[in-house]
Amino acid sequence: MLQSQLFSKTTKNLPEGETAKNAQLLIKAGFINKSSAGVYSFLPLGLRVLNKINQIIREEMNAIGGEELLLPSLVQRKYWEKSGRWDVDIIYKTGAVINQRVLRGDFEYGLGWTHEEVVGDIARHFIQSYKDLPKAVYQIQTKFRAEARAQAGLLRGREFLMKDLYSFHANTEDLNSYYQLAIGAYKKIFKRLGLGAIVTEAGGGAFTKEYTHEFQVLNPAGEDVIYYCRQCDFSQNKEIYNASAHKNCNGEIKSESAIEVGNVFKLGTKFSEAFNAQYLDKNGNKNLVIMGSYGIGPTRVMGTIVEQYNDEKGIIWPESVAPFKVHLIELGDSPAVKKAASGLYQTIGQKLDMEVLYDERSASAGEKLNDADLFGIPWRIVISEKTLAAKKIEVKKRSEKTPQLITQTQLAKLLK
Ligand code: ATP
Ligand code: MG
Repeated sequence: MLQSQLFSKTTKNLPEGETAKNAQLLIKAGFINKSSAGVYSFLPLGLRVLNKINQIIREEMNAIGGEELLLPSLVQRKYWEKSGRWDVDIIYKTGAVINQRVLRGDFEYGLGWTHEEVVGDIARHFIQSYKDLPKAVYQIQTKFRAEARAQAGLLRGREFLMKDLYSFHANTEDLNSYYQLAIGAYKKIFKRLGLGAIVTEAGGGAFTKEYTHEFQVLNPAGEDVIYYCRQCDFSQNKEIYNASAHKNCNGEIKSESAIEVGNVFKLGTKFSEAFNAQYLDKNGNKNLVIMGSYGIGPTRVMGTIVEQYNDEKGIIWPESVAPFKVHLIELGDSPAVKKAASGLYQTIGQKLDMEVLYDERSASAGEKLNDADLFGIPWRIVISEKTLAAKKIEVKKRSEKTPQLITQTQLAKLLK
């Protein structure tokens, strides 16, 4: 992609009151735009990152048998009433109730903040027998919540993206083994995303009396506090922390701020009961379907990655989610530089089949290099009179300090 063609430009101007580092960097770099508190537009550069995050999540969900679907955001009042979440949760959680009375009829909708109701109702139609179980479906969808304090950029949106997976089982043992499988998939996802997430016990909130498991990334920007052991895998959210539950070892417990990037729940029969989702077992007896639900916030993940990977100059994307792999920069307007740089652009893009952003703008070296640091693309390549004279290419990783001069053959090897 030619940088001169990008829809967005870098900017020094931040919207008033934007204090979150992730939002500040992403806005400056032209990845997102603030629409209102907790509501952001994803510009083309930002969407490239978000799509990569979603793709990683999809691959790992598909790998544990999840089938992707898409549920509606507008969820009629009757659904929430069945599960008892209209007055308690919908009004409080989303605040937003769309009242269609003015249009026609007297339909009231809640904007979906999570979709156990909708999916529980669908399950009733397709799950009749033990032979139809287990099943797992997921979606990546926009959610709405009336977050009181939406000052953490992408970490706490009033509108945000969630991947929600729902699983259906004939018995608790099957739910338990799928739950472990999902935890394994989540570990893979966060590893691929470059996030060291700690599996943390937490309360069940609106869903369950059992503990749930949160995936927590240690970071000062986090709004959660976790108590975790430095030696074993003990970790509990502050809300339920009990020192005497730490029995595995004598390791020291630390408490730190963390960002909850994922959360898995054993729902049991709460929603299948509300929606009468039953199946016939081998003996012809009716039983309630047992459910699990598993969430990840891709937009929060994007904000978390920025909080984890940045320096005073800008973002430092992990390769797995970077908008481009290579940032090719030509310095100076001489025809020789232009020719060499555009040739290399073709080579890297086509022969090496890598995503390249090519800065062919006529701007100062300072401006181009500053923009490159702000963007945070993993590999920076510079072509200038100086590199041409040396018959070399200048390469620098965004995460490293010093550039190196290498040949084109060495470059191909390095990038692979
Ligand atoms: P929190 O405690 O941070 O408010 P939650 O526990 O209410 O979040 P869940 O209902 O478990 O959130 O949602 C599943 C996932 O969706 C979370 O783990 C998080 O990654 C993401 N998520 C939840 N709320 C938001 C939000 N307001 N903005 C962005 N992502 C969110
Ligand atoms: Mg949660």
